[in-house]
Amino acid sequence: MEQKRYNSLFWKISLVFFLLLAIVGMAHVYISYNSSREYLEEVNQRINHDTAKNIIENSTPFYNGKVIKPALNEMFHHVMAINPNLEVYLVDPKGKIIAWFPPEKKIILESINVLPIKAFIADKKKSLIRGDDPLNPGTQKVFSAHPLTMNNMLYAYIYVVLNGEKKQAESDTLFTSYLWQISYRTMGITLFFTFLIGLLIIRTITKNYSKILNVMQRFREGDLHARINLDSLSSEKQLAEMFNEMADILTTNIDKLKEVENLRRELIANVSHDLRTPIAIIRGYLETLQIKEKTITDEERKRYIDMVSQSSVKLEKLVHELFELSKLEANQIRPNKEAFIISELVNDISSKYHLIAHNKKITIDTFLSKELAPVFADISLIERVIQNLLDNAIKFTPENGYISITTEKCLNNTVKITITDNGIGIPEKDRERIFARYYRANNYTDLKNSTGLGLAIAKKILDLHDSSLELISSENTGSSFIFKLKCS
Ligand code: ADP
Repeated sequence: MEQKRYNSLFWKISLVFFLLLAIVGMAHVYISYNSSREYLEEVNQRINHDTAKNIIENSTPFYNGKVIKPALNEMFHHVMAINPNLEVYLVDPKGKIIAWFPPEKKIILESINVLPIKAFIADKKKSLIRGDDPLNPGTQKVFSAHPLTMNNMLYAYIYVVLNGEKKQAESDTLFTSYLWQISYRTMGITLFFTFLIGLLIIRTITKNYSKILNVMQRFREGDLHARINLDSLSSEKQLAEMFNEMADILTTNIDKLKEVENLRRELIANVSHDLRTPIAIIRGYLETLQIKEKTITDEERKRYIDMVSQSSVKLEKLVHELFELSKLEANQIRPNKEAFIISELVNDISSKYHLIAHNKKITIDTFLSKELAPVFADISLIERVIQNLLDNAIKFTPENGYISITTEKCLNNTVKITITDNGIGIPEKDRERIFARYYRANNYTDLKNSTGLGLAIAKKILDLHDSSLELISSENTGSSFIFKLKCS
C-alpha cells in the first residue's frame, strides 16, 4: 500500500518535473535560435553594407533619366562577378521594380516598400534593417541599398537582397544542423543531469512524504498511537511535528471524552441508585404505616415518620444539586456580581453551622481580616461554595474535630478564603478527581449523606468568577480548600 502510494507520488512529480524541464529546454532553444539568427543577419548586413554602392561604383545604367540597357547588362554582369548568389533590383523612387537580376527569377511583388531603403541609407550606425523580398511576399530580409542620383536628382535605388533564395536555403540547413549540435551537446547534457539530480531529490522527498502519509493513514484507521518518526526528515519535519502535536491533542481529547462518557454512565447508574434508595425507603415505611396502622405503637410510628422525613430530605437535596449543576454546566446561571465584604458573609454562614457542628462536637473558628476591600462576586453563589466546603469539612471530620475559616488579603487585589479541617484527609490518587461530578473518594464509606456533586458545583461557580479551587490535603491529618476572589 505504502509502496504503491509512494510510487504514484514519485512518478507524478517526476513527470511534472520532466515536462517543466522540456518546456524550459524548448524555450531556451527557441530563444537561442532566434537571437543567433538575428545576430547572423546583422553581421551579414554589416559586412555587406556597401555591396549596393560597389555595384554601381563603376557603371551607372541611367542617362538623362532613362535606363540604358547595355549599361544595365554590364552592371548585372559585374554582380555576377562579385557574387552570383545576390539578388539585385533596380527600384524607382516610389518602390516600383524596374529591372532585376538574375533575370530568370519570377518576381511576385511589382513594387516594394521604400521606407526601409530610406532608413538604411540614412542610418549611420548600421543597425539591423529588413526590407521586402520581391520573390517571397510577406518575408522580410536583410539588404544593402544605394541611391542612383544625377545632378542631385534621385532616379532610382539599387536594392540588393543579401540572403538570396539559394544562400538562405544553404544557411538554413547549416544553421539548423549547427543549432541541433549545440542543443544536443549543451542542452541535452544539462537537461539530462538536471533531470537526474531532480529525480534523486524528488525520490528523497516523496519517500519522506510517503512515510508521513502512511502514519496518517494508520491514524485515520484508528491506530491513535501512530506517530511520525522525526529522525531522517528534513524539510518535512515541521509538517510531521505538526501532525504529531495534532495527534497528541486529538488523543488527549478523545481520552477526555471517554472519561466524560464513563462519568456520564457512572452518573446515570449513581442517579438511579441514589434516587431509588430513598424512594424505596419512603415507600416501605409508608406501606408499613398503612398496613399496621392500628397495631403499631406511637414510638414506632414516630420512628417510621422520621425515616420517611430523612429520606425525603436526602431526595430533595439530590434532585436540587443535580438540577443546580446541570444549570451551571449548561451556562444557564449568570453570576449577578456585586461588591460585598466577604468576612461578613463567612461570619453569617459559620454562625448558622455552629449548631450542626456542636452536635458532632466539632469546633468552627474564624480568622477574618478586618482590612479587606469588598470583593466583587455573586453573593448567593459564593455562599453556596462556602456552604458546600463547610458541609464536607463537617462530614469528613470525626467527633471532637476542628474546622477553621480564614479570610486574608492577597496579591493582585484579591482576597483568599481558606477552609481547613483536621478530618480524614483525601488520598493522593483521588485529589485531582474529587472535583469531577459524582466522584467520591474511597476515604468515606457512609454514602448516606453523599451525592458527589458538592465540589463539582463549587468548582463550576468559581469558574464563573475566573477563580479556581485549590486543595491541600494529607491523609488522616486533614484538608484545606482555598479559593480567591477579586476585589471591586
Ligand atoms: P459529597 O461530599 O457529596 O460526596 P463532594 O463533591 O462534595 O461530594 O465531594 C467529593 C468527594 O471528595 C467526597 O465524597 C470525599 O471523598 C472527598 N472530600 C471532599 N471534601 C472533603 C474533606 N473536607 N475531607 C475529606 N474528603 C473530602
